[in-house]
Amino acid sequence: MSVVSSGPSSEALRVAVVGAGPAGFYATDFLLHRGAHVDLFERLPAPFGLLRYGVAPDHQKIKRLGVAFEKIAHAPELRFFGNVEFGRDISLPELLGDYDQVLFAVGAAADRRLGIPGEDLAGSVAATSLVGWYNAHPDHSQDQFDLSTERAVIVGVGNVALDVARILLRDPSELATSDIADYALAALQRSSVREVVLLGRRGPEHAAFDAAELIEIAELPGVEVVLENEVSPPSDPHLQLHTRKNLEFMAALPRQAGHRAERRLRLRFLAAPKALLGSEGRVQAVEIGRNVAVLKHDGSEALVESDEPTSILPTGLVVRSVGYRSRPLPGLPFDERASLVPSHGGRVGLAGERLERCYVVGWIKRGPVGLLGTNKVDAHETVDHMLEDREEALASRDQRRPGSVVQLLAERGVRSVSYADWERLDALERSRGAACGKLREKLPTISAALEELARCSPKDSVPHSPV
Ligand code: NAP
Repeated sequence: MSVVSSGPSSEALRVAVVGAGPAGFYATDFLLHRGAHVDLFERLPAPFGLLRYGVAPDHQKIKRLGVAFEKIAHAPELRFFGNVEFGRDISLPELLGDYDQVLFAVGAAADRRLGIPGEDLAGSVAATSLVGWYNAHPDHSQDQFDLSTERAVIVGVGNVALDVARILLRDPSELATSDIADYALAALQRSSVREVVLLGRRGPEHAAFDAAELIEIAELPGVEVVLENEVSPPSDPHLQLHTRKNLEFMAALPRQAGHRAERRLRLRFLAAPKALLGSEGRVQAVEIGRNVAVLKHDGSEALVESDEPTSILPTGLVVRSVGYRSRPLPGLPFDERASLVPSHGGRVGLAGERLERCYVVGWIKRGPVGLLGTNKVDAHETVDHMLEDREEALASRDQRRPGSVVQLLAERGVRSVSYADWERLDALERSRGAACGKLREKLPTISAALEELARCSPKDSVPHSPV
């Protein structure tokens, strides 16, 4: 990160950060280190975004990153406002009317669609919804999944697809002490799913997942991984490490199912789902065509569908795991195709049309790709630009009414959740979990969290302190 002088004014920059997931926390940390004061707004009562609601319950090592975020949250120059939704409780002009700069770190909460017939049949679900369900996300805790089918089909071959496959295939007793939602654990214990088929539209060399994630599934007791395509060990020395590792591992996989495994993951590449077939409104099968990769004049690859007859794969559960999608934010430009807010290194706006004092970081800035750590580099870039623009932001201070947002929230009756409030909810979740031998039992709805806070006596209530 380049060092930017604090300039003629030594006043602290006041920043509103919208979104308390990993990208929001990394950026907040860098801003605090550079002398800014931050108010962090989050739609849900709980902070940590995908770390809490996206990372799978059997990946607790990754979730330990939360300890670093908890430390950041205790900085005296940071205030947390959970249960405050941008666009519903507070608008862009209102934030810009109070703060020197506004940084959006809202991620990509929606799912992408396949655009094929039958996609809306019952039993056809988005991975975002299934992941949110087993992680007790308030948007998905009420969703229903029928796991009475022996075979589940997942469209897409990214890391989310492997997360879902692993949760469906793992012995549920191994999840019993985690922070998985109690209703999801019960449903997995009753599940009939014994086989998960992953469909990739391109060849194995284009698999988006990481070999380590596939190896983890192959090493699960009682689970075998079968590859349905021909793959040779990689020979091209110029291959990316990610591709090389994937091909090396896949080349060694069996092509035929054995008889000893209790559960199985099948990988089928060059598979084009053409339609979901159903009866009485429920999905019963996927019709699959076969893709062929052809070289175009410019040397790039294109997919064409072969004229082989399509195959029918019976299933009662189809999970589309073809990437996340961001939603437009009121008052900000949006690139529908790339599913992001256009920016120059985090400064919102298209060429020559900057939206003054507005910034983006994380998936809303660069699209829904990258691991949690990718947000760190990304946050450095955006925060550097925010600090470069510091004097310009401070120069427009006479248009500002500091404190007006907190006042507006109070006038609108928004019950914002402070960090001290969240710590009470956190302690409650941990004790609910401990009572049944789990790490935590999450409060699965916003109303459940707010009811718990309402139960606290007024003397326990900790208001937001002025910064
Ligand atoms: P992703 O990595 O972008 O994978 C999406 C998959 O969907 C790709 O295989 C893509 O194939 C396929 N796809 C897209 N449109 C399709 C269509 N119309 N028909 C068939 N297939 C289609 O997305 P993701 O799995 O949602 O993951 C998002 C990010 O989070 C990634 O960067 C991922 O690494 C990260 N993540 C990491 C972990 C972990 O480290 N454990 C866990 C979860 C997520 P094409 O390549 O052909 O487009």
